[in-house]
This record gives sequence, structure tokens and C-alpha cells, in this order.
Amino acid sequence: MKRTTLGPQIKRDSDIYCESDDSDLINWAFDPFLVDQQVLYFNFARMLELTGITNRFDLKQEVVLNFAKNIARKYQTNTYHNFQHGFSTAHFCFISIYRCHDIEKCLRSIDVFALLIAALMHDVDHPGTNNNYEIQKKTELAIRYNDTSVLEAHHAAVGWDIIYNQSGNNTIVDQLSIEDLNTFRKTTIRAILHTDMVHHFSLIDQLSGLSPNAPFDVNKPSGKFKKFFCFSCFSCFFLFHIH
Ligand SMILES: [Zn+2]
Repeated sequence: MKRTTLGPQIKRDSDIYCESDDSDLINWAFDPFLVDQQVLYFNFARMLELTGITNRFDLKQEVVLNFAKNIARKYQTNTYHNFQHGFSTAHFCFISIYRCHDIEKCLRSIDVFALLIAALMHDVDHPGTNNNYEIQKKTELAIRYNDTSVLEAHHAAVGWDIIYNQSGNNTIVDQLSIEDLNTFRKTTIRAILHTDMVHHFSLIDQLSGLSPNAPFDVNKPSGKFKKFFCFSCFSCFFLFHIH
């Protein structure tokens, strides 16, 4: 039977400390600006391995590397919203999940897969402006996305264009069942759209409403709560990473 949760697929600190090659990657202080961009492609593939995603979804390393390279090519070379920022966000997402033992009770493998991919591509093709600028200037992007989460909608669309049109005929979603693909697509898009700060405060309101009237039992999370938790996690990853 296929796994639906991370379970013991995740290697814990005790396992990983024996693997000296990963010691940098599992460190919060990892700095993507200190390594060659090519190395980041391999590091991203390694994050998918360490979270059990590679095995669970039968991902080929060359396909992941190719995906990461294509995403990197579409990041613009602006000062902040560059590929290293995308990688760094994915790394923060990875290490938060990797180090939190209870998170596997709330996130399925498909959620973790979607969040890591969404993190890597969440600012792809960022022009270095903001939504307000795009809307006020009536830019092509603002018109295309009807003044609604303009840049976030663009990042999600460009990311998915890369996923579907990855060169070499193989894509990172080839092995997903139709159900998983639907979940994966929905989650990545929703996660990226949630990086628009206009959604942040409604999440905070929902979080505030959970306690004390609806305390959360980590051992018996409802489906609705799991979904909410998924996007709350992603928002936290982004905010703590200084999105
Ligand atoms: Zn960002």
C-alpha cells in the first residue's frame, strides 16, 4: 500500500549527522550565496530525497535537476527576488518540516512535495516591482490577472508552464496519480497565491479563532484542519524567511 504520510521515510537528525555531506544542508545557517548555483540544483534534489519525496513519487534525479535549472533560468537577476531567494525559501521550508517531528501528522507527502516545489518557484520571473505598482501603471501583468494578486498569479503560472513544458519529455509530475496531481497543482498554486500579504491577516484571524474554542489535537487532526495547517505552515515559512 502506498504511503500517504511521511512516516519513517524521513531521516532524523541522528541518522543524518552520520552523513557529513548533508551537514551544511540541514543547518539553518546555510547560505545559498556561498555556493555555486549548480550546487543548489543538487541541494534541492537532496532536500526531496531527505524528506522521502523522491522515493514516494519515484522522481528521477535528472528530472529534478532539470526542473531546478529551468526555474533558475526564469528567475530575473534583481537584487532580492532572485533564484537564491527562491532556493533559500525552499530550504527554510525543508528544514522546518525536517526538524518538526509532529508535522508529518498534519502534512501528507503530496503536501510536502507541493510546498517544496511552490517555495522554489514562488517568485519566479519577479520583475522587481510590487502589485501596487503593476496595478497603478496598468501593466500587461495587471491587465492579464485583473489586478488580483498580480505578481503571485504570474509566478504560479510561469512555474506551471515550466513544469508542464520541461525539456526532455520527463516532468516532476509524471508519476503522480490523477488525484495526487490535482492536489499537487491546487496546493502549489494556492500556496504561491497566499504569499500575497492580503491573505496573511485572514489566516491570522483563523488561527486566533482556533483557541480556546477549538483546540487542536495533533494526534487527530481533521481534514479541514490539515488543509488549513498546510497553508498556515507555508505562510509561516515565508514570513519567517522574510518573504
Ligand atoms: Zn519571496
